[in-house]
Amino acid sequence: MRIDVLTIFPEFFGQVFDFGIIRRARLAEIVSVNVHDIRDFAFNKHRMTDDRPFGGGDGMVMKPEPIFAAVEHILGTTNREDYPPRTRVVLLSPQGTVFKQAVAQRLADETEHLVLICGRYEGVDERVNERLVNEEISIGDYVLSGGETAAVVVADAVIRLLPEALGSETSAANDSFSDGLLDCPHYTRPADFMGMKVPDVLLSGDHAAIEKWRHEKALEKTRSNRKDLLEGENGECES
Ligand code: SAH
Repeated sequence: MRIDVLTIFPEFFGQVFDFGIIRRARLAEIVSVNVHDIRDFAFNKHRMTDDRPFGGGDGMVMKPEPIFAAVEHILGTTNREDYPPRTRVVLLSPQGTVFKQAVAQRLADETEHLVLICGRYEGVDERVNERLVNEEISIGDYVLSGGETAAVVVADAVIRLLPEALGSETSAANDSFSDGLLDCPHYTRPADFMGMKVPDVLLSGDHAAIEKWRHEKALEKTRSNRKDLLEGENGECES
């Protein structure tokens, strides 16, 4: 997979993709991440990337031209009908559909080239949405100051689902959300820490009993913290 991030703050991404699973995936060339400064595509006199909103009101709006020029540079076209296959251009936005594990899984399965556009200020000129963007994604019902943190969240969640990214010793199959439940509790040594003991079953070596215990605990945790997952309200719409 190739990921291109468009931002007016490229330095923001300094080291965020340099740790753990993401770093390993990059080194193994499972994914490459390229960060582009939108300002490099602002060819107006003052290299402006934002301007005042039509209709008045607070704040600034990100101009369409530099974003169109950046997408043209990366994809060779500014018409989403002409994008190469398995290409998705995503606008990070609180107005997007909410990012879930199922969305991450779909992007990991179906996309080879992901372009992430990070907004700032009041947001991005709507014509970017109209012509360039395949989907608007929100990472949750709150407003961030910029799309950069959201882009890191989306990239991280997608990259760790790419085949081979997790390596053989781990798997995403038991992670929270992949089977509609939260993950079970985990313990490591010491078996007795300040009088708090690891559940006996985990020390028993009885794999069937351990599996059963883990499933029950996952269910218990989901019931107490995220009832909505059990009521099936949380999947990605099948449409
Ligand atoms: N006026 C906008 C908010 C702009 S916040 C509104 O109320 O909808 C500035 C930028 O931060 C947005 O353009 C978007 O790229 C990013 N952003 C803010 N909240 C976000 C969220 N929940 N998910 C993804 N991106 C978000």
